[in-house]
Amino acid sequence: MRIFALAGLVLGLSAMAAAQTTAPWDYAGKRGPLEWGKLDPAYKVCSQGHEQSPIDIRGAHLNKALQPIEFHYISAPVTLENNGHTVLVHVHPGSYIVADGVRYELQQFHFHHPAEEAVKGKLSDMVVHLVHKSADGKMAVVAVRLTEDRGSPNAVLATLWEHLPTTTGATDKTTDMVNPGGLLPPDRGYWTYMGSLTTPPCTEGVRWFVFEQEMTISRDQLRAFAALFKVNSRPLQDAHGRRIEANE
Ligand SMILES: [Zn+2]
Repeated sequence: MRIFALAGLVLGLSAMAAAQTTAPWDYAGKRGPLEWGKLDPAYKVCSQGHEQSPIDIRGAHLNKALQPIEFHYISAPVTLENNGHTVLVHVHPGSYIVADGVRYELQQFHFHHPAEEAVKGKLSDMVVHLVHKSADGKMAVVAVRLTEDRGSPNAVLATLWEHLPTTTGATDKTTDMVNPGGLLPPDRGYWTYMGSLTTPPCTEGVRWFVFEQEMTISRDQLRAFAALFKVNSRPLQDAHGRRIEANE
């Protein structure tokens, strides 16, 4: 009897934990961004936090003490997953950055359409978020804004776009090697500020690095993504007086 009760308790707890990590949310309607904070107690910070992302980037303070971000990205095949909210690119372990003396491992990268972070009120066509985590659990996200251009399509995007999974839950793996470094602009000037994840549970304490220079995406690439995700961006959040710094 006791064993069954304990098993029931354990099952109950794990069911609760599962519910907290999987409470459904969306980018519009009853489960849209304005409701995220009410959908699950674990999402409360989405509506109550004062360090939420994305924000409109303006009024940055130049801080010449900020070092360039060191990128140590490796080439490897990647797995793309359509998780219903974005196309998530799972990378082979081994890629990392060093920022402000801290090493952060690249975990995954993914795309938003349109871009989430605005610059002086202007949103780019898309953005790629490269999500990193340090050994002690600190998160750092590098954002590269993408703007439609007639020039030659970005080679990394071209490889990935051949494998875009079109239905929720679908995955596809590249046979070609992918180096996420191919998504980074040549000019490494960035803005940095403290923010949050832009999807539930909207966890705060995330160090953001937004590159000042945009990269380009072709019209066909943009259309192909927009056909899957018409809008998968969280609206701008109040900066609450947060300090934004620029390294150059
Ligand atoms: Zn993102």
